[in-house]
This record gives sequence, structure tokens and C-alpha cells, in this order.
Amino acid sequence: MANQGNLEDLEIVSAPFLAVLNDLFSKYKSQREGTLANYIPELAKVNPELFSICIVTVDGQTYQVGDYQQQFTIQSISKVFAYGLALEDHGRDYVLTRVGVEPTGDAFNAIILDEKSKRPYNPMVNAGAIATTSLIKGSGATERLNRVLDMFRRYTGRDALVDISVFTSERSTGHRNRAIAHLMLNFGMIDQNIEEVLDLYFQQCAVIVNCQDLAMMAATLANKGVNPVTGEQAVESRHVKDILSVMYTCGMYNFSGEWAYTVGIPAKSGVCGGIIAVAPHKMGIGVFSPLLDVRGNSVRGVNVCEELSRRLGLHLFDCSGDTKF
Ligand code: GLN
Repeated sequence: MANQGNLEDLEIVSAPFLAVLNDLFSKYKSQREGTLANYIPELAKVNPELFSICIVTVDGQTYQVGDYQQQFTIQSISKVFAYGLALEDHGRDYVLTRVGVEPTGDAFNAIILDEKSKRPYNPMVNAGAIATTSLIKGSGATERLNRVLDMFRRYTGRDALVDISVFTSERSTGHRNRAIAHLMLNFGMIDQNIEEVLDLYFQQCAVIVNCQDLAMMAATLANKGVNPVTGEQAVESRHVKDILSVMYTCGMYNFSGEWAYTVGIPAKSGVCGGIIAVAPHKMGIGVFSPLLDVRGNSVRGVNVCEELSRRLGLHLFDCSGDTKF
């Protein structure tokens, strides 16, 4: 099976990685479809031409092409990592009482909870992510934010900062998320101060990353929660299975089923135009291109990941025998 690859196998194909990335970059560079996320005013100012692809292997080798040092805000990709922190803070049984693990088939910002349980469907859509963020422990807003920033540092290997313009831009316009938070307050799914929870959620979404950071974070999840370059344990390894499972079933919103079918590895997108994809025990992939399709996924990002998965044989259930490793 393709997912049984090991490091020796990886080395055999590592030389062509850069060639594949260069190839994909020139193939999709001219693609112009999609629109910028303009419901957060600051995001509408981003240069739509930006494009980068990065791979970090579980032994820490990095391959990158395009604007890989360009900074942008992580947006919904943060939901993956906040979920890991909530699992560490409370354990999976308690977290499951507050956030489900069921795909919705609805848009990422749908104002909807599970009819029966009143839980948000899953931690990868806004409702579930806001509930997840409300679970992050700390003795006040500053401590909670510092814990979130320190968590990002463990994954990327460098200090994390919040883009204040993007944060305030979303805070002043994020009424839909405010409505979702109030709905959850109504059903007792959030019990803290709503504005404080939303502030932390908007701050985690406004954490600054580049494409290389995305690939490093994905590679950390591919590597049992250990950052492959610094060697630091970013998240307890026992939680990685749960994180990757919800990424696999829910990470690409109402495109998750099609993604699982064609790309076949856990992933998460954000309205920044970033996508992370995790090939367990092999590599993390980061793609950044801000033009989005109607579901809020990067157009080039989806195309690149589909082709990368096919060319490198990454689909978890591919047992056709002609995969690369
Ligand atoms: N901060 C954004 C929001 O809550 C994140 C959404 C996304 O990236 N899909 O709307």
C-alpha cells in the first residue's frame, strides 16, 4: 500500500520532488479563476497573483517553489491546531461532548448546530472551531492567547505573531461568527464570555505564516506530532489520529468527500488561500494561492494537491501497485 512508505523509499524519490513542484508551479501559474475572500476587508487587499508550493518531509527536508516566504494569515487552517490544544487540555471524551466529528455538507460559516445534541458538527467549520477555541485553558485572555501562540511556535519552529490589521478587520465585521457564538451560548455549548472567545478565535485566524510554515506544520502532523526540524513535540502523539481523522472527513468543508475521493489525504484549507495536506509518515504539503472557489478553497491549491497526490502516489487507499512509494 502506498501509505507503508518509509524514509529509505522517500530518499529514492526526493530528488524529483523539486522538479515536480516546478512543473506544477508553471502549469498552474497562469490559472486566474476564483475570487479573493472579501468578507474580511483586509483579505481583499491581498495580491491575487501570489502562489507557492512547499513540501517538508518527515526527515526535515524542504522543497519549495514560488512566493514561499510571502506572509499571510493562517485563517481556518488554525482550526486543526486549536483542536489539538483542546484535546490536550480536556481529553477527547470531554471535547466530544462539545464538538462533534460529523461532516456537514454545508458551508464553513453555516449558522447550524446538530438538532439533537446541539453540538456544532465538527471542529473544522466555524461553529465547531469557535466552540473548540472556547475550550482552550488559561487564567485570562492574555494567557490563553500566549498558549495559542506558543502552540503555533512548536509547529512552525519560529515565534508566532498576530496580524493586528487582519484581526481588527475581522473583529469589526465578523457578525456571522458572532451570531454562531450566540447560538452556541443559547444551547450551553459555550459558557464563557462570548466576546473574549471570539477575540481569541479571530486572533488565532490572524496568526502570520508563510507557505513553508504551512508545510512544516503539516509535516509535524505527518511525523507523530514532532516537528521534523526542531524535534519538539508540538502535540501529544495520541491526539494526532483524532486530528487527522477530522481533517480527512471535514477539512475541506463541503468539498471534503470529493477531496477524500480524489486526493485521499487529510487536509485543511483557509480563506487566506492556504491549504495544508498531510501524508502520514511521509510529508507535509503547503500551498498558498489566494483566489478561492465558491466553497472557500484555493483554486490552484486544490489543483496542485490533486496532481501532487496522483504523481507522488499519496492517496491513502491507493493499492494499485504502481505508486512511487
Ligand atoms: N476567520 C475566518 C472566519 O471565521 C476563517 C474562515 C476560513 O478560513 N474558512 O470566517
